[in-house]
This record gives sequence, C-alpha cells and structure tokens, in this order.
Amino acid sequence: MKHFINNGDMKAANTRDVFSLIRRHGSLTRKQIEEYTRLSWGTVSNITARLLETGYLLEEKAENPGSGRIPTRLMVNGSDHFVLGVDINLIGIHMALLNLKGEVLAEKLYSADFRNRDSLWDQLCRLLDAWTERWQSRHPAAIGIGIQGKVDSRRGVSVSIPQCENWKDVPLRQMVEERFGIPVFLEHDPLCILHTAAEPDLYPNAVLLRLDSGIGMAVMTEGRMFDVPGTCEIAHTTAVPGGIPCSCGRRGCLESYVSERGIEAQSGKPYRKTAAGAMAGIPEDLAYFRQMSSLLTTAIGSITALFDPQILYLCGEMLQEADLFLPDLRKGLQKEGIPVRIKVLEEVHAAYGAALLATEHMEICTEE
Ligand SMILES: [Zn+2]
Repeated sequence: MKHFINNGDMKAANTRDVFSLIRRHGSLTRKQIEEYTRLSWGTVSNITARLLETGYLLEEKAENPGSGRIPTRLMVNGSDHFVLGVDINLIGIHMALLNLKGEVLAEKLYSADFRNRDSLWDQLCRLLDAWTERWQSRHPAAIGIGIQGKVDSRRGVSVSIPQCENWKDVPLRQMVEERFGIPVFLEHDPLCILHTAAEPDLYPNAVLLRLDSGIGMAVMTEGRMFDVPGTCEIAHTTAVPGGIPCSCGRRGCLESYVSERGIEAQSGKPYRKTAAGAMAGIPEDLAYFRQMSSLLTTAIGSITALFDPQILYLCGEMLQEADLFLPDLRKGLQKEGIPVRIKVLEEVHAAYGAALLATEHMEICTEE
C-alpha cells in the first residue's frame, strides 16, 4: 500500500525538518539531530529509518569501528531522487535539474514568450515535457517553480503578471501537477533566490532586491523566510507622489523609476540604448540612473526601518550597469546614516532556490 504523509501531519513536518537539517549541515549523527530538533530519540530513529528506507538519506558506516561504539553519520542521498527547478521571468525561463543535495546536474536559459496566458503556458508545458523526457532515467520527484509578479505560494496561484495578457489568478501549481503527476511547489522568484543566497548564521535578518524588468523583494527575519502572500511588494510603493503611471494602475510607483521597464517608459527608447548612452556619459541618459540611485536610497531606508536587515542582497540584470547607480547608492546610504551591508550577487539562482524549496516541501512517500 502506498502511504503518504500529508503536509498537515506533524510526522511529515518533523520529517521535513530532519531532512532539511541534514541537508544544511552536510552530515549529522542521530544524537546531533536529537539535540538540534529537540525531538525524542525514538522519533529521530523512526524518521531517519524511514528516510533511509526510501532512499532520501544514506548512512556512512565508520570504516574502522575499533573499540567502543562509533556513531554513524547520516547524509542526503544525491543519486536516487531529483528535482526540477524553473524560474519564469520576463528575461527568460531558466530550467535546472538538481539532486537532493542541491547539486546542479543540468541547466539552460530559454527566451520567454510572455505575449499572453496561452503562449506562456504552452511554452512552459513544452519545456517541462522536454526536460522530463530527457531526464527519464532521473525522473524528477518534484518541480519547484519561481515566478515573477504577484504570487500566492500557499494556494499555489500566480496572481498576476501585468506584462502577460490574461495572466490573472492562474492556479499554476494545480495545472502543472495535473499535467505531469508530480508534486509542484510555487514561490515568488526573489524568495527563491534569497533561499540560495541567505547566510542565516551570519545575518539572520536579510533583504533581497532583484532589479531587472521590474523590481522584486524578499525578506528573511530571524533566519526564517517571510512568505506571507501579497506582502513585500516594494515595486508598488509610492516613490513619487502623483508621478508617472504604473502597470498596476497607480501613479509614481518605485518600479516606474527603478527598473529596466521604468527607465524604458521614461526615455521612450530601449533600456539597453539608454544604458549604453549613460555609460558613454550622455547627460540625459545618466539622469535616469541618478534618479534611480536617489529613489532606491530612500526605499532602502524605509526597508531598513521596517525589517532591520544586517545585509541587503542585490541581484538581477540591471547589476550589469552597477557602475551607473551603485556608487551613488552606497554614498547615499552612508550620508543618510543607513547602516546596511550591501552584497551584489553576480548570478540569479531562482531556479535552484525553487528546486530546493520544492525538496523541502516534498511529501515523503513510502511503500508499505
Ligand atoms: Zn505600481
């Protein structure tokens, strides 16, 4: 009989906690798991036995036991189960296949078709078909999807992507689960990136800003991801009262000034052209980036007052032009006395983060 441990089940929650703990630490003894989780010895033994039986964990036997009892160490099995990670973003759809240790086995970036709901859904299905077929021998046990726009991760719904026609309240988790018969986990893309970048032992409070076609934000407080749907929408906070119209229907939103799309709308020419002009020192092109630094300084000041982050991660396509706004931003923060460390992430790993989050939310399935 197939036995599923459901998400609501305490046993499942403990199993997930034990699995994530071992993954984060590389390897642990049962005694260490007992100490970290404060679960009873019996519970730890039962959970680890089940995870070993299903191939989620491996046990390292001591090579030379010698005298006395040497405890065996448990680690994540990187060879038996795999997870597919997807990042759906205007700048492209990034696909990645990871093992349960979080090691990337294959990845590729495709240009995205955001014309409308049908075109984007068809493209996603084609990519998932191709990847699940290609990796038949390493059949993914779960799919993690990171997506831009508004996301309700608890219901698995992509609430809106203003740039994609008819993309409203799309029950993406259910749609992909029904079509592919694999558990799916859906999350807002900045939170997926923060999941891979965060250093909770060093900086338990952290904020991440993704700057590309739009602006996305994710928050971690006291080492835990702040994942309440519909919150942290920094893009649509007012930067300029009564300012230029935004895709959300309001005016003067931060995203209308601090994003590729915002700069494009203001200048009336492709973003890359404005960026190249600014790099060449053309004053009117440089002005968009000066304005961006100034508004971003104020926004980060508000973020700092709200969440008290020890570190602010910046990532996204606009960091290619970091020279045009980052020095001014650093100066502005210093001048305003905003005490936050800034770290630029060279690459965006939303697809990896989505896959890892899916791993942690995956149901542990055992045959009985
Ligand atoms: Zn807006």
